[in-house]
Amino acid sequence: MTNAAPSSIYGPVGSWRLGRSLGVDLLCVDSICSFQCVYCQLGKINRVTDMREIFVPTAKVLEDLQNSDWQQADVITFSGSGEPTLAANLGEAIEKIKNLTHKPVVVLTNSTLLHRKQVRREISKADKIFCKLDAWSDDVLRRIDHPHASISLETIISGIRELRREFKGFLAIQTMILKTPTEPEIEKLAAILQTITPDEVQLNLPTRPVPHKYFFETRGNAVEFASDFLRIRTIPKNDLENVRRKLSELAKLPIITR
Ligand code: SF4
Repeated sequence: MTNAAPSSIYGPVGSWRLGRSLGVDLLCVDSICSFQCVYCQLGKINRVTDMREIFVPTAKVLEDLQNSDWQQADVITFSGSGEPTLAANLGEAIEKIKNLTHKPVVVLTNSTLLHRKQVRREISKADKIFCKLDAWSDDVLRRIDHPHASISLETIISGIRELRREFKGFLAIQTMILKTPTEPEIEKLAAILQTITPDEVQLNLPTRPVPHKYFFETRGNAVEFASDFLRIRTIPKNDLENVRRKLSELAKLPIITR
């Protein structure tokens, strides 16, 4: 007897930014990403790659959608078991789901493939894009996000800048703060943000449990801490607020914290 394939649709789950969010997971055959972030809620990334391919056919995604409570959702969010832009059917899936549901679509991306024109063309079908940018130097990028060898900070920043120029919807930057950055580090990040001019910057703390290995239930943010999960040490909320204030003075952009 074989196990049934997991659904590529999950939720809706409550999101502090988006309301009731229905998740679309175009990668749920495994954990697949171009990063291996130290705080990743998926635990281990089993396939670290920068190669795009179709992992879950669009026909299966649409079938899973029909079997879900999609009508209850405020928004449809592409995220799931890794980096959604690695799915070569991202553009097709966004288009078909929008046509079917008439709900706003958000994509959470780690920004590593945005320097590719085809990826920007596909992701731009969304209404909102949240781009991860955790680092202000290649050293910080390697320490926090453990990128695939082909990826540098410049690749990421130039990709986000290009997307900002072309995309007419809402573009936010999401930055995970692990340690309190020094003044020069905040200045560096502010200078980078000024060259991007996002609609919003979201500073986050790593509050989600990190399992030792991937299992697809972790994608929905519904898994509680278990004894064998890692808890990432976070900075105090006051320190985060200080970082937010300084960054917002320097970058002159709307910056929010959770
Ligand atoms: S980019 Fe997201 S999915 Fe990929 S390793 Fe980082 S947190 Fe996990």
